Amino acid sequence: MSVRTRVAPSPTGDPHVGTAYVALFNLVFARSQGGQFILRVEDTDQQRSSSASEAAIVEALRWVGLSWDEGPDVGGRFGPYRQSERLGIYRCHADELVASGGAFRCFCSKQRLDELRRRQQTNRETPRYDGHCRNLDPEESRDRALNCETHVVRLDVPETGACRFSDGIRGDIEIPWQQVDMQILVKSDGFPTYHLAAVVDDHLMGITHILRGEEWLPSMPKHRLIYDRFGWTAPAHYHLPLLRNADGSKVSKRRNPTGLNYYRRIGYLPEALRNYLALMGWSMPDEREIFSTEEMTAAFDIDRLTTGGPVFDFAKLDWLNGQYIRSLAPSEFMDRVADWAINRENLAAVAPLVQQRTERLVDLLPQVDYLLGDRAALDESDFAELRLGADGCVRVLDHVGRRLDEQDGWDRDSLQAAIRSLAEAMGISMRDFLAPLFVAVAGRTVALPLFDSMAYLGRDMVRSRLASALSALGGVSKKKAKRLERAYMELEVDEA
Ligand code: GLU
Repeated sequence: MSVRTRVAPSPTGDPHVGTAYVALFNLVFARSQGGQFILRVEDTDQQRSSSASEAAIVEALRWVGLSWDEGPDVGGRFGPYRQSERLGIYRCHADELVASGGAFRCFCSKQRLDELRRRQQTNRETPRYDGHCRNLDPEESRDRALNCETHVVRLDVPETGACRFSDGIRGDIEIPWQQVDMQILVKSDGFPTYHLAAVVDDHLMGITHILRGEEWLPSMPKHRLIYDRFGWTAPAHYHLPLLRNADGSKVSKRRNPTGLNYYRRIGYLPEALRNYLALMGWSMPDEREIFSTEEMTAAFDIDRLTTGGPVFDFAKLDWLNGQYIRSLAPSEFMDRVADWAINRENLAAVAPLVQQRTERLVDLLPQVDYLLGDRAALDESDFAELRLGADGCVRVLDHVGRRLDEQDGWDRDSLQAAIRSLAEAMGISMRDFLAPLFVAVAGRTVALPLFDSMAYLGRDMVRSRLASALSALGGVSKKKAKRLERAYMELEVDEA
């Protein structure tokens, strides 16, 4: 049987570097075995999924240089590859599980479930569904469903014993059933949850090997149960180590640039990024550090995957990128510069901002330095003259970061509305409020219009500049972050 792997992003936000990392390993493994690699879009979370996010993820993965044999944009004989277009398939499978007793309908009210959770918390028990509806008479359960009584479908989980399975990287693993919740498989809106949809699709799409992030390891017992209840053979699973900071914590967007668009805008070359990601949890048999994806594919041995949390080290990525940049032929180098930002399309976006402010063309460059390039490095003195003082600046930068994380639209007007309502809620005049933002975004208090600049730079770049401005102001400890979060939650911000 030919090897088939997949990457299955949920289109609920910006393209993430972790998706490229997981996709790269799935792609390389499939290619090394002469198999196929598939892109599947897991958009069953109706509230959080968007087609804009899907388009951005597809575009970013293509920029990284990844390609797939089947997917929503290229088709394939196991389609559709977007889960929201497969709802009928999940419904039939959920019905089958209910009929065979592998799952059951649960009619418990939110109030009952809340009480249950509270009781379990007081008794220091793991929050878990107590099986209340598990033994409902099948006829009663069916009649209540036919009467349109609101319900979910839950996986029936054994009370005792343990789930034993083997992970390709981690070996044999045992998880007691007592720790496994009776997972909701179908929500009350009729949509499947990730667990049901992913297992059904992996089976129907003929996936033979699943390489995914280790955060999914605790879900394995649920998935194994679903495979077993359908009588299916589970694919081989490999849980890849999470990318970590030097202190061992998980790479997260609050602390590091995790958006692929950041890497693109900063000017990492896709082949250097692929090479770098390949070093996260894998090594070449000859320990060479610089290699192409083709060389990796030719030498790929899945048994060389390691469990140790690879440290995402920007200094190393910069070094590697420098090696790639310097090895380009001069004409290729110029092409890359043009692809990156110094091109007509990109300049067209900044031209309207600067044209009116320019007397000689040479005046252009000092105005757009922070838009086309990185802004200057900051330290505390850059904020010293501002009216809000260091603490006030920290509050503003932190709260703007939180507000922008909730922000859907990223155009000038919606950014302006969001920031204006935040300033009002914090009781700070726009003038004082914008000063630290100018410094964070542009590196100085006088620059091109702020909201246009932010719109141009994009979410990932702005997030990373806010974070680095906060570190210039002394950084935010965990304790302080908690305090700031609480203060932010207490604000009454008008919805922009
Ligand atoms: N949709 C899941 C995610 O966003 C996929 C997990 C998996 O690979 O099974 O990560």
